[in-house]
Amino acid sequence: MGRRRKFWGWGYEDEDLSREEKENLAALLAGRFGGAELTVTEPPALAEVRLRAPRVQPPASLRRLFTDDAYERAGHTYGKSYRDVVRAYRRDFSPAPDWVALPGTEEDVASVLAWAGEQEAVVIPYGGGSSVVGGIEAPPGEERPVVSLDLRQLNQVLEVDRTSRAARIQGGALGPDLEAQLKPHGLTLRHFPQSFELSTLGGWIATRSGGHFATLYTHIDDFVESLRVVTPAGVVETRRLPGDGSGPRADRLFLGSEGTLGVITEAWMRLQDRPIHRANLSAEFERLEDAVAACRAISQAGLYPSNCRLLDPNEALYNGAGDGTRTLLLVAFESADHALDAWIGRAAECCRDHGGAVPQEVGTRAGAEGAREGSAGAWRNAFIRMPYYRDAIAGMGVLNETFETACTWDRFEEFNSGVSAAVHSAMDTVGAGRGWLSLRFTHVYPDGPAPYYSVTGPATRGEEIEQWQVIKEAASNAILELGGTITHHHAVGRDHAPWYRREQAPLYLDSLRAMKKTLDPAGILNPGVLFS
Ligand SMILES: Cc1cc2nc3c(=O)[nH]c(=O)nc-3n(C[C@H](O)[C@H](O)[C@H](O)COP(=O)(O)OP(=O)(O)OC[C@H]3O[C@@H](n4cnc5c(N)ncnc54)[C@H](O)[C@@H]3O)c2cc1C
Repeated sequence: MGRRRKFWGWGYEDEDLSREEKENLAALLAGRFGGAELTVTEPPALAEVRLRAPRVQPPASLRRLFTDDAYERAGHTYGKSYRDVVRAYRRDFSPAPDWVALPGTEEDVASVLAWAGEQEAVVIPYGGGSSVVGGIEAPPGEERPVVSLDLRQLNQVLEVDRTSRAARIQGGALGPDLEAQLKPHGLTLRHFPQSFELSTLGGWIATRSGGHFATLYTHIDDFVESLRVVTPAGVVETRRLPGDGSGPRADRLFLGSEGTLGVITEAWMRLQDRPIHRANLSAEFERLEDAVAACRAISQAGLYPSNCRLLDPNEALYNGAGDGTRTLLLVAFESADHALDAWIGRAAECCRDHGGAVPQEVGTRAGAEGAREGSAGAWRNAFIRMPYYRDAIAGMGVLNETFETACTWDRFEEFNSGVSAAVHSAMDTVGAGRGWLSLRFTHVYPDGPAPYYSVTGPATRGEEIEQWQVIKEAASNAILELGGTITHHHAVGRDHAPWYRREQAPLYLDSLRAMKKTLDPAGILNPGVLFS
């Protein structure tokens, strides 16, 4: 039997932090919070989870596709946000789906949707379950039976077109699965969200995920050539084209549809050759505004680095990449075709022009090592381990929230100080003022950055969710008022839906609802998410 995933949080059962590591972490954070009391809680055991009896029975003809196994139902109850993990630590699995369906073919998907339509059962498409916005959870108080439709058996690369550099891939393929199948062809999708290991192609497309590329190919959208979607009303398949001008593009309707319009079963994806040239640098700045100016200069110079990650002093400190006194800018380039000396050299000039300290010798290397040394390497390692630490701290009375957005360069300064003031004030209100807020840029565009904020502070045990809610609302209100978007790549789900609806024109939302009525007449697909 293979490794088993945790039913209550991120990752695999064999990869949790040890009790000793958790105790050490609690002591370290308690000190940083000025003496807060942090106690380690044991994660839930399956035997402690109470699930109600399924409210409906699948028909005999489809019974083979369904399971009501407790581990599966518990594991499909929540995504992986802070709030999800806190509820799991509380042993509260009350929104668990009645059934988990595991289709093996596209016909199975259509059969489950048809049966659910007749029964008026809710269907929640499920990829890797890594949603951090309440995207795969049954709506609160939902009285209809709920089926979590897990696509993990649809995990194959079905066809590779080496000439056009594209592949037809099933929606349930996890990141490592699809990369392993592409590797023998010398090709790669190179879409690496932080959740890469445990998220799927269908989930990425449904949420318009953001990968590791800081510029140019920031979202999965850029790699989608065509899609195949099973809706309750039938199948929609779009045409493989490198580009077109034939009216509003059908792919766009399903990109970001978050399981509300149909189930993405397959997509033709644009691929790349594996990079063999790499170059990276790490620049230090005394002042945040100088690092921001350097970042903007690089993003507007037409260099298109694969990484251009600004880390403010807190972000650098808490990820082991700096001492907390300076802002860092990590820049990297990669290419399958050409050496990158000119590109990295010009990026170094942009940093120096704005007062950045850059090592005198900045050069290119073959292979992956370049990005894995020094500050960049330290930050990268912390980044990969972060979700395990996040789950551990959620269980010891530490409040944690991450929120991300995008805004134009002209308003960034005012935006950042406004968001920061609103969040600090909310942290004070809930008694988490001894914690900290940190900032990084995950992606940068010629016209603006995508800022990503992390809040960490001491929580009051038993009140974590209420405290989280106060901070979430303060941050989200400030973001909208100051001209940002409620999400750059984490998606809308249920958590962001109120702000998404404020962000969009009412007539546009009505148009989407009309479209949903056509594709999902019984309203069974992921109610409560986005506009639905
Ligand atoms: C530790 C961590 C790090 C993360 N890092 C990133 C990051 O770097 N970039 C980023 O963009 N996001 C990130 N996320 C958020 C999350 O990983 C993304 O939203 C991801 O795209 C979700 O993919 P999934 O397969 O897990 O989808 P799920 O969580 O299973 O589902 C997400 C949504 O998509 C719908 N859905 C899933 N599959 C399908 C399908 N085949 N057809 C139709 N609808 C479907 C679901 O109904 C739900 O609404 C992170 C999350 C965690 C926990």
